[in-house]
Amino acid sequence: MNYSVELGMYPLGSCTMKYNPKVSELIASSDGMRHAHPLQPEETVQGLLSVLHELGEMLSEITGMHRFSLSTAAGAQGEFAGVLMIRKYLREQHLTNKDEILVPDSAHGTNPASAAMGGFKVVKVPSEESGLVSAKAVKELTSESTAGMMFTVPNTLGLFEGEVVEISKAVHDAGGLMYYDGANMNALLGKTRPGDMGFDIVHLNLHKTFATPHGGGGPGAGPVGATKRLAEYLPVPVVSKQKSGYCLDYDLKQTVGRLKGFVGNSAVLLRAYAYIRLLGADGLANVSSLAVLAANYLWRLLDSEAYPVTHGRSLRRKHETVVSVRSGLPGGAMQTAKALLDYGMHAPTVYFPLIVSEALMVEPTESEPVEFLDEYASALNQISRELKEGRLGNVPRNTSVGRVDEVKASHPTTLKVRW
Ligand SMILES: *Cc1c(COP(=O)(O)O)cnc(C)c1O
Repeated sequence: MNYSVELGMYPLGSCTMKYNPKVSELIASSDGMRHAHPLQPEETVQGLLSVLHELGEMLSEITGMHRFSLSTAAGAQGEFAGVLMIRKYLREQHLTNKDEILVPDSAHGTNPASAAMGGFKVVKVPSEESGLVSAKAVKELTSESTAGMMFTVPNTLGLFEGEVVEISKAVHDAGGLMYYDGANMNALLGKTRPGDMGFDIVHLNLHKTFATPHGGGGPGAGPVGATKRLAEYLPVPVVSKQKSGYCLDYDLKQTVGRLKGFVGNSAVLLRAYAYIRLLGADGLANVSSLAVLAANYLWRLLDSEAYPVTHGRSLRRKHETVVSVRSGLPGGAMQTAKALLDYGMHAPTVYFPLIVSEALMVEPTESEPVEFLDEYASALNQISRELKEGRLGNVPRNTSVGRVDEVKASHPTTLKVRW
């Protein structure tokens, strides 16, 4: 009854659910790792610390940052750390008037949430019809009050933000900092780097781009990286290399402090390390080539009248494609997603990003064979015909559980979290 990424496509857009090589599991569950305790004397875990140190260096190279802190447990926590870094940096410059963070309307919900939790006002940047953010719009919204901007490249429509360099410059000119939401790094690995686009702080989702299992709420790893100017603000501990060996270093001068116990979810970090070493630089570049190819291939197989893209029609998709379900009925995206379950296929992300009505966000990733892409597109096209002709009915029919009450699970009067 269970479904996993081992059994078929799991094309949840933005989430980057891809095949997780088993060698990473072997390494993460090796005796030395499994029995390691976070309170063990450091001289007894030098091997693990050296690997984590090297992981930080590799992530720095991949993103064009100076240093990484590995402890944060998710993208959202990395974002929050980044926002705290921006706040502390500005306070130390006595720039407390800077209290606004720009966030595009296509952003993941965690971006405005992190900015607000960090005490900033969120200024929404409207996307153009092309689905992209224009430098002009950013310039109009920057002012004395601009603390920074959180930006996802490629954005959640799967489109590369062509004016990113100019946008970074506009925010820097206003005295703000640029934060890179790295959840979509799967499209850029080995091709270009946020550091080269002008970003000051980045997070990566190791549980997305770097093939460590996720779903069911964790554990994850959302390391944060920063340029040289901001590296001292990173959350502690960082792994440092000293004369006496590797250590968990709590002594960064301007650190925003500790956000998670010890070095974070070290087994996840170790899996990501294994994945990067397994592929090497060329292998990582190939990941993004294939991920982009898969997303565009699948997009081209879809009936373009039933599943049009609403933004940037002439632009190449990066690692994911967002289509709008045109069934003439509200709820078409949900019907389509439920109908896919009857084919034994996992549904894509639905109703996100918010700027596309009846959105299906499909991210096949590089690890799906072409046969799966063909089958998936053919199922979607079949479903759209049945939906349009009113023949779909009450889907799903072939699953052991039918339609679940999606509100009930999070409704305060019905949710029972203990018994
Ligand atoms: C997944 C995601 C996040 C949040 O990351 P978590 O690890 O789930 O906290 C932020 N932004 C984008 C674009 C994402 O896809």
